[in-house]
Amino acid sequence: MSTRILKGVGVSPGIAVGPARLVHWELPRVTRRLVAADRVDEEVDRLHQAVDEVRQLFQDLRTRTHERAGPDEAKIFDAQILMLEDPEFLREVEALIHDNQLSAERAFEFKTLEMRALWAQSTSPRLRQRVADLAGVQLRVLNRLLGRSFEHLLKSEGDQPAIVFMRELTPGLTIQFERERVAGFATEQGTRTAHAAILARGLGIPCVMGLVDAMSQITPGTQVILDGSHGVALISPTADELEAAQETERVRLDIEHQMEASRSEPSVLLDGGGVELRATVDLPEDIDRAEQHGAEGIGLLRTEFFLMGRAEMPSEEEQVTLFERAIRTFPGDQVIVRSYDLGGDKYPAMFNPEPEPNPFLGWRAIRVSLDEPAFFRTQLRALLRARRYGDVRVMLPLVTGVEEVERVQAMLREEAEALATAGVPAASSIPLGAMVETPAAVMIVDRLASACDFLSVGTSDLTQYTLAVDRGNARMASRFEPMHPAIVRQLHDVAVASRDAGIEASICGLMSSDPLGVFLLIGLGYRVFSVTTGALPSVRWVVRQLDGASCAACVEDALGASTAAEVRAALTAGLGERVDLRMLDGGELPDLTPPH
Ligand code: PEP
Ligand code: MG
Repeated sequence: MSTRILKGVGVSPGIAVGPARLVHWELPRVTRRLVAADRVDEEVDRLHQAVDEVRQLFQDLRTRTHERAGPDEAKIFDAQILMLEDPEFLREVEALIHDNQLSAERAFEFKTLEMRALWAQSTSPRLRQRVADLAGVQLRVLNRLLGRSFEHLLKSEGDQPAIVFMRELTPGLTIQFERERVAGFATEQGTRTAHAAILARGLGIPCVMGLVDAMSQITPGTQVILDGSHGVALISPTADELEAAQETERVRLDIEHQMEASRSEPSVLLDGGGVELRATVDLPEDIDRAEQHGAEGIGLLRTEFFLMGRAEMPSEEEQVTLFERAIRTFPGDQVIVRSYDLGGDKYPAMFNPEPEPNPFLGWRAIRVSLDEPAFFRTQLRALLRARRYGDVRVMLPLVTGVEEVERVQAMLREEAEALATAGVPAASSIPLGAMVETPAAVMIVDRLASACDFLSVGTSDLTQYTLAVDRGNARMASRFEPMHPAIVRQLHDVAVASRDAGIEASICGLMSSDPLGVFLLIGLGYRVFSVTTGALPSVRWVVRQLDGASCAACVEDALGASTAAEVRAALTAGLGERVDLRMLDGGELPDLTPPH
């Protein structure tokens, strides 16, 4: 692979071209300074003044973000504002000034470094994620106390908007850079789920994260093409490459508009066969967005995100209201609610469990629900009650055995009986499905198909558990390959087993939001997909240009492949004969994308 090409994780789509700007923002050095006993109160005042100023700054950033990116993105600053409003935290810094006569900056640095060390080592991904928030607070308060400005870092020198390279991007910095001076962001650390990534997407700035050691390989001012759709940075591009990149971006924008315009077209194949495109919903706001993008129901409603950042569980009533809202938005369509998928990178804080060495192989998903029946049964009751309003269904994450499904079936029967006895209006049963996202589930898929009303494949976890590659680890990003023959074969087996059992098998992992993935899946016989709201237009556009029989013929080659590269080559060639590949996801420029 050429060293001109750096590969990371594309977290915000689009192609940007510009000179590299290396931004090293580091915490300022604080020298030890003791204050005289009679100046201690003054020092405490200084601390409060700096903290107040920075809090105000974050509040302004919150408002600006709300205006420029939206309400969800604006919430990102809440954690930092809360930190600066935390009386206990501030009392501890004050105590260091009082008891040890430390300067305000020294005391603040001491306390925040202590917290940073604790959080960075934490096995809780949520706490580890907050380290970046803490660093943003530290940087600003310390600079203020030292009378220094770091705002100059955010201003760009030359005329051309730059590709900003940083070790780590915080949400605050993302929004503070002058938008017109930034063509793209490239960072050494971080993944798709980082808050800064969410913000960059909201702002429409192409961004690639996880470009390991990028800072040491780039000279400031060097021209760079950043492909935020495919996670690639190309250093010192040739004139041809530049032209190709510009053309691709032009086509991407053009097609984005065209695809948006076709939102009311039905998703049918050229042979007239229907393909059902349901939406993947992470947050309540996504429900309306899904409807606006023409989704036919909800294929995956991730309920655990409703718990994030909350101290107490949502009540049964609250859950009924939310499910009812989803059902009423899609009358006549299915709404598939996934039971809580806590654990892994979604720490089940409410149960305060012992930290685990391998959370993705530990107390996660259906295991948590079965071990915490009171918590789980509340959700099951809410679902039974909501089913009176329409076709809501429930599916279980990370199933590895039929007995898990059977235990939930028994719980559902018991809860339906209890509701009836109590005279609470509710359905007497609800269709139950299993997610197929572990190799174990694939191997017993015939048994699961007999035990369940439907199946849905979670391709992201299936890839993670089959290839033994952590899905959230930026370093492993190039090894996370859903087109691996091991995955393709398992997808084939699930399609055959569900067809034999006469039940629906849908796809709800990220593969069904990727045009190449959709091509493969249609060839394998799948006709129901849950798609992220942003990808609905492009997936519909692809579907309308395919026909089942010729996809199946092309997929034969993919099924016979020995390597992921062969699978990709076969699929790309096949899809390329049917649709204009350049029109998809920014268009894949062969010379920008290193071989997998
Ligand atoms: C998956 O694993 O593909 C899936 C759909 O579930 P989640 O992404 O929520 O783990
Ligand atoms: Mg999953």
